Amino acid sequence: MMAKNELIYLDNAATTKVDPLVLEAMLPYLEDGFANPSAGYGPAHKARHAVEEARKEVAELIGAEPDEVFFTSGGTESDQLALSGALAAIGGCAGRSGFVIVSDELEHPAVRNTLAHLEKTGQASLIKVKPESNGFIGASALSEVLEGRGFTSAGTCKNGIISIMTANNEIGTINDMDGIAGVAEQNGFLLHSDAVQALGHIPVDVSRIGFDLLSASAHKLGGPKGIGMLYIRRGTPFSSMSFGGGQERGIRSGTENVAGIVGFGRAAQLAGNRMEEDRVYVSGLRDRLISRICAEIPDTILTGPACFNEEEKDRRLPGSASFAFRGIQGSSLVIRLDMAGICASTGSACSASSGKNSHVLSGIGVSPEYIGGSLRITLSRGNTPDEIERAADIIAQSVADLRRLGNYH
Ligand code: PLP
Repeated sequence: MMAKNELIYLDNAATTKVDPLVLEAMLPYLEDGFANPSAGYGPAHKARHAVEEARKEVAELIGAEPDEVFFTSGGTESDQLALSGALAAIGGCAGRSGFVIVSDELEHPAVRNTLAHLEKTGQASLIKVKPESNGFIGASALSEVLEGRGFTSAGTCKNGIISIMTANNEIGTINDMDGIAGVAEQNGFLLHSDAVQALGHIPVDVSRIGFDLLSASAHKLGGPKGIGMLYIRRGTPFSSMSFGGGQERGIRSGTENVAGIVGFGRAAQLAGNRMEEDRVYVSGLRDRLISRICAEIPDTILTGPACFNEEEKDRRLPGSASFAFRGIQGSSLVIRLDMAGICASTGSACSASSGKNSHVLSGIGVSPEYIGGSLRITLSRGNTPDEIERAADIIAQSVADLRRLGNYH
């Protein structure tokens, strides 16, 4: 058994460690700088200034204007606010009889369950686009689904919302958001994207791609938990579903989480500065792990974008390696890895706790003999080459042990 300080943390899609520079930036606002930024005295003005500086940092990371960034409590709230707020606003468009949301089966529950609620309560009808087998949501599949339904981009009213994630949290797929934005525009739809796993890891640029709404969360890029943001492009129809004291210009009420916001700003700044260097380093570790696992463990599939296909390789998040092993239970593997000092998961933290097969793996058609044996490894700049070698050894050994115990031939 490994000593505690030898822990190998390979679950960065679940959450990341707060970067020491982020913590340093936050601490003053948990100590003497604790004032409520809405108050009328000096320390409060200082807190307000810190919030607005952080807003600029987050806006800069995505190519937005600061007044298009609204702080929330995280990715879940941003997704929910984006979909319900935009739907409420376009619902006021005269002459339309029903609003449509187009999405897919691979979204995070924050989007899926919001959509299910909107459908169940009769606020919108849902159209789902089928993913490709490697997990991409194709712009052409989206276009085909909308074709012939009479949607046009004529007039200022919107027909509905397209909500497709920028990158998938289980299999690391990076979607062609540029192509998807083009389809949204042609058909008169707003485009929302859950960019929680993408922000800070790959370029996400609203000045280049036609996102109308974009959700993100600080704890996936070295920031603290409980702070997120919703980007709303200027001019996007939006009626907030958050009522209270009117903070965040009435879009998201509630006293600001000043230290969290400051941490998010600092994390965004660091991620922007380090993105390319980290991408090269982390994807190198990922490729080494993938090549060892695929070569050394028989009956393994890499779920999501292909292993060594040059075109697809760059369409997998830099830190994401996801596998399915035939004939074992992923949950047993995660326990064995934990006993050996490795933190990894079967899929998303949410599906791991429910004990159900992942909706993402079933959505891309992973076969029944493999689907229960999933393992998601997500790396960060904090991982070392030595950790990757040790993890590969331990994973190979653990899969072999589980197969032997289960009489797998
Ligand atoms: N969307 C995606 C793709 C995620 O991976 C997550 C978190 O795992 C969320 C939304 C929810 O974000 P938060 O934990 O900040 O609520």
